[in-house]
Amino acid sequence: MTRAIFPSHDSRPTRTIEDYLMTMSVMERDQGEIVAARLAERMGVAPPTVTMTLKRMERDGWITGTGRKAVRLTETGRAAAHSVIRRHMLAEWLLVEMLKVPLEQVHEEAHGIEHAISPQLEARLREALGDRQVCPHGNPFPGCESVVQAWTALTDLRAGEGGVLRRIHEFAEDDPQVITFLYARGLTPGASLRVQEVLPFNQTLTVEVQENALTLGFAVARYLFVERT
Ligand SMILES: [Zn+2]
Ligand SMILES: [Zn+2]
Repeated sequence: MTRAIFPSHDSRPTRTIEDYLMTMSVMERDQGEIVAARLAERMGVAPPTVTMTLKRMERDGWITGTGRKAVRLTETGRAAAHSVIRRHMLAEWLLVEMLKVPLEQVHEEAHGIEHAISPQLEARLREALGDRQVCPHGNPFPGCESVVQAWTALTDLRAGEGGVLRRIHEFAEDDPQVITFLYARGLTPGASLRVQEVLPFNQTLTVEVQENALTLGFAVARYLFVERT
């Protein structure tokens, strides 16, 4: 059935594999390697499930190195990952700009849509949305990584330093609790903030946003990136 409706999708990985590829590509971009144990945490599944999926992915040519500590994307795997990330980000912009979906729901909704976007529809979205370098959360489109390099992790700011929030990392986007918390308190891309206090022994920092003080753990703060002012 699916084949008849979407003939151009035949060479694409399944939905599950596309989700794995997306996460793996972000890990490779940020850490230079894809550690299988970290993947289980990120995907929210048991390690044996990851092991099984990785074996299937190696068989199908998306990755190499199954059974070792870190796996690698093949050229085909990386291209497929970049394709689904592009479709995810275009879907996010579509939801934000055309459908006015609240920002905190955009990532989840886009996850449902991204797999169904054909190459033809992707081309039309690009045309309608114009040239984008980052998603609505400030994460770079594949190939646009240099755009975000000027931004500093919030955990690298000292007390008294301020900036504009530019980016909420993919791994924070992925956690509905985190994104809802941040957005409810005005920490959206474009928000001005100032660091009031940093408590390393407590692993927290306090920022002033819209004249309110907000305490964040380092675990979340390291996924927020600011342009210093
Ligand atoms: Zn997203
Ligand atoms: Zn996004």
